[in-house]
Amino acid sequence: RGRVEFEHVGFAYNEDRPILKDITFSIEPGRKVAVVGPSGAGKSTLARLLFRFYDVSSGRIVIDDQDIRQVTQQSLRAAIGIVPQDTVLFNESIFYNIQYARPDASREEVEQAARHAHIHDFIVNLPQGYDTIVGERGLKLSGGEKQRVAIARVILKNPVILVFDEATSSLDSQSEQAILAALREVAEQHTTLVVAHRLSTIVDADEILVMEAGQILERGTHATLLARD
Ligand code: ADP
Ligand code: ADP
Repeated sequence: RGRVEFEHVGFAYNEDRPILKDITFSIEPGRKVAVVGPSGAGKSTLARLLFRFYDVSSGRIVIDDQDIRQVTQQSLRAAIGIVPQDTVLFNESIFYNIQYARPDASREEVEQAARHAHIHDFIVNLPQGYDTIVGERGLKLSGGEKQRVAIARVILKNPVILVFDEATSSLDSQSEQAILAALREVAEQHTTLVVAHRLSTIVDADEILVMEAGQILERGTHATLLARD
C-alpha cells in the first residue's frame, strides 16, 4: 500500500496564471521521490495537492487506485503525514506536542519517536526534559528543532505516505544533518515525497524531479542528474 500517482496534473491559483502544467509521475510503495527546483517553481504547491490542501485544476492524483477526491478527508489525513516547512507548535510541553499525533501513545513510544527524529538528546538535556513548555511563555525552539518535533510526530503517527516540505536551506548545519538523518530513517518505511531546495540533501532519493516554472524539466537519480550537468 501507498502507491502515489500524479496523472497530467495541472493547477492554478488564479485561472489566468497556471502554476503546475501537466505533471505526471508516480511513487511506488515505500519509495522516495524528491522534487527540486528554484523558488517559485511550484514544488510546495505540488506537495499540497497530495493532501488536498488544494484540489487539482486538471488531471488527477491517485493513491492506491483511488482518486483522492473520492477518499474521505479523514482517511486521507490518516494515510498522509506531513512535515511542513514551518511547523507551528502548541504552547505546551514537548511531550504534548509529539503525542498530539496519537493521543493513545505511551510515554515510551513518544520518547522512541523523538529518538528516531534525532531530537531526544536535545530534549533530555533541557531542565524539564520532555515536559519543557515551548512557545511564547516557554522555550523558543529553532526552526530545525521545531522541524524535528514535527518529524517525531509523523514517526509516531506512522502514516503510509510521508510529505516532507524541507526548509533546510535556512537551518544551522547541525539541525540540517540531524533532519537528514531522521528523514533517511523515516523514509525507509514510507512512501515519501520530499520537496528539496538543494540536490545535495536528497542523494538517496529513488527518483528526482527537476521542476521549473510548473513543469518537470528533467528526471533521474542523483548520479544521472549530476552527470548531465
Ligand atoms: P516553490 O515551492 O517551488 O518555491 P510554490 O509552490 O510555493 O513554489 O509557488 C509557486 C508559485 O505559486 C509562485 O509563483 C507563488 O507565488 C505562487 N503561489 C504560491 N502560493 C500561492 C497562493 N496561496 N496564492 C496565489 N499564488 C500562490
Ligand atoms: P491527524 O488527523 O492524524 O490528527 P492532522 O491532520 O492533525 O493529523 O495533522 C498531522 C500533521 O500534519 C500536523 O503536524 C499538522 O500540522 C499537519 N497538517 C495537517 N493538515 C495540514 C495542512 N493542510 N497543511 C499543513 N500541515 C497540515
